[in-house]
Amino acid sequence: MFSGPYIIATVYKGITENVFQLCSFYHIDDYCFHHLFSFSVFAIFEMNVLAELQTSLKDKWCSPSDTLHASKIPKALREPAIITGYRPVNRSWNYYLFSMFRLHNETFNVWSHLVGIVAIILVLLNLSDTYGFSGNKHLWPALTFGICAIITNLFSTVAHLLHSKSTKVHFTMFLLDYIGVTFYAFGSGVLAMYACSTKTFYEAWSQYYLSTLVIACWFSYIVLCVAKCIYGEDPFNKSKKRLQVGSVVILSVWLIAPLFERYKTCFMQNGCSFSSLNHITICILLFGLQAFFFGSHLPEKMFPGKCDILGQGHQIFHILSNLTQVTQIRAVVMDMRSGHSDHTDPAFSELLFYGVLLMALSISTFLLARKFTPNS
Ligand SMILES: [Zn+2]
Repeated sequence: MFSGPYIIATVYKGITENVFQLCSFYHIDDYCFHHLFSFSVFAIFEMNVLAELQTSLKDKWCSPSDTLHASKIPKALREPAIITGYRPVNRSWNYYLFSMFRLHNETFNVWSHLVGIVAIILVLLNLSDTYGFSGNKHLWPALTFGICAIITNLFSTVAHLLHSKSTKVHFTMFLLDYIGVTFYAFGSGVLAMYACSTKTFYEAWSQYYLSTLVIACWFSYIVLCVAKCIYGEDPFNKSKKRLQVGSVVILSVWLIAPLFERYKTCFMQNGCSFSSLNHITICILLFGLQAFFFGSHLPEKMFPGKCDILGQGHQIFHILSNLTQVTQIRAVVMDMRSGHSDHTDPAFSELLFYGVLLMALSISTFLLARKFTPNS
């Protein structure tokens, strides 16, 4: 009953339905969006189509001398099961900057998060036009999350664009990228507490939540940095991924705690159906899928060399993170519309204070961690 194709089909159906709902929620032409999405998902599973597409893209936009085989670049810059498409090291900054317009194994990662930034800005503008931020405190968590998501996607774009310059720059850029991950977690925690929590949980925990969330996010950032500094020179070392995924999963428990109480309350209440929480459930499922594709390096490990330009697990992770961010904001708006978040009392100055505090702690840790990165 739970065969591989059945699970893939179920996950695909769930994600597609979510994209449909998102399209109609944000008034996007859902027909075009759906077909674009269907094509991209099936292209990943249909590896022959993917291989042909990559060959024709390489022929058009990439001469053989533009990119290198994994054996020609430092070990720290290699990715498991990605064989070709690497940019050479020690070129000018302009070379890496303009490489966003050429085809290599990071092009998709750069553009996918740039598109994510544009999507978040459009969603926030849409909310501003529809509801207005100034007079509606229940939308401030969404605004805070939107700013955090833009920071996340911006740091990720810069990291993927510039990290190939040298081993030292690679470490520096990904330590910066982790600040973005930390802010994504902070923004998600703000949403969970100020938009989706129950009245009971809010009254019990709200006065401690932001301070403990900042500490949990900072601790997670420290673990990400330690994992990168200790194991980063060997990208095939499994301890690094385990530590990174483990720290984010432990942090997620604190992020999901307000939501857990909501499921518990629904379970105890007569007449409350879990389907009324579908807008939250889909966010949690998308989180799980993100962790899977980030940590597993699939499908490229099953098809080494066939996903060098398109189809890497990390690219799927980027698409899922964009999708999750937009879905999370929709969940906040749905809870605001239904009056579920009426009991919360977010103060933008407080959210800003803790956001700035987290940035200060992260930058200090980044400057310290940078001393433990390779010199060349
Ligand atoms: Zn990335």
